[in-house]
Amino acid sequence: MSIRPIYLDCHATTPVDERVLAAMLPYFTEHFGNPSSISHVYGWEAEAAVKQTREILAAAINATPEEIVFTSGATEANNLAIKGVAEAYFKKGQHIITVATEHSAAIDPCNYLKSLGFDITILPVQKDGLIDLIELKKAFRPETILVSVMAANNEIGVLQPLAEIGEMCRDGLGDRNIIFHTDAAQAIGKIPLDVQAMKIDLMSLTAHKLYGPKGIGALYVRRRNPRVQLAPQQHGGGHERGMRSGTLYTPQIAGFGKAVEIALAEQATETQRLTQLRQSLWEQLSQVEGIYLNGHPQERLAGNLNISVEGVDGAALLLGLQPVMAVSSGSACSSATTAPSHVLTALGHSEQLAYASVRFGIGRFNTQEEIDIVAKHAIATIESLRHPMRDFTKKNSELKIQNSL
Ligand SMILES: *Cc1c(COP(=O)(O)O)cnc(C)c1O
Repeated sequence: MSIRPIYLDCHATTPVDERVLAAMLPYFTEHFGNPSSISHVYGWEAEAAVKQTREILAAAINATPEEIVFTSGATEANNLAIKGVAEAYFKKGQHIITVATEHSAAIDPCNYLKSLGFDITILPVQKDGLIDLIELKKAFRPETILVSVMAANNEIGVLQPLAEIGEMCRDGLGDRNIIFHTDAAQAIGKIPLDVQAMKIDLMSLTAHKLYGPKGIGALYVRRRNPRVQLAPQQHGGGHERGMRSGTLYTPQIAGFGKAVEIALAEQATETQRLTQLRQSLWEQLSQVEGIYLNGHPQERLAGNLNISVEGVDGAALLLGLQPVMAVSSGSACSSATTAPSHVLTALGHSEQLAYASVRFGIGRFNTQEEIDIVAKHAIATIESLRHPMRDFTKKNSELKIQNSL
């Protein structure tokens, strides 16, 4: 087997935990029933697994099981939340507020609504990636129906002040509240989430950033105080209380539940361990001049380190890192484009700094030894890109010595 680079791209996706896989397997074969089949034991077995995951997810965010709507992931959950609210409330108002650093799965549904005539405010962020709550309040209008702000950023790991945003949206304007949606794809299982305390009305979740399978996610939809209406974006058999039709994918759902259960049980210790690994990586890298940390130093995910490097070409940097580590620049979802990350540009970076950036996503299976290897190689790569002649001269003199022997 060839040696593969050290995986440090946990914001793009994570491997399925063996314990999660074990929880999924029976639902492919033995318990293969359709959870909607209510007249026999095959259906009941599948339904039991779905019910269990609904309960785990609800408990994880302090919701009720009936408020969980399964989707294919966070992209679909965001689409259902944003377009579903727009379609259900457009008679009340056609203004939506979101943020410049959101994932494309939130920005693009908003852009789509804009093309239909909705008015979209895209809030800027401060230098540390946090939104300015005063600016948010200023953006509220009588016709604002929705505020969509992510919980944890997928590139710079920044955690937005959900409770404060929730409070402001609930107070709304005059006697009317504004619906608050948060994309918590990167946050579930990693930071405490509470839809009551944080006054969240809609929350998008996904399993595959959390050592669960790809292709499964959920949208939390508040049922009371206030009840949120959603226009379905997919019509059919009326599954998920009519909000999202389609036969439920039982093995993925069973895995999702297990993944969240494990993450919650290990959240405290894992946060501490990942924080130590991240700090160690940053301590080593920051010895080198001209390396900048992107995003707020404390208000961030434990496993996230995002840096910009002065005086090097972004593409050359990634190429140099590639043999040793699997990292990315910007987000995986937009890495097909060569434009600098919209998130780093929103921080006010120059094009060079936005382009020469590296996102380290440290996760459950990374070790201190790996962090040390990665730090060493990253520093060597940066130095050699900055001083190509120094390396050349060194190699050349080595060659001369060899030749003279
Ligand atoms: C990964 C991610 C998504 C997309 O989730 P999928 O389940 O892959 O559709 C959306 N938002 C954020 C913040 C993400 O990190």
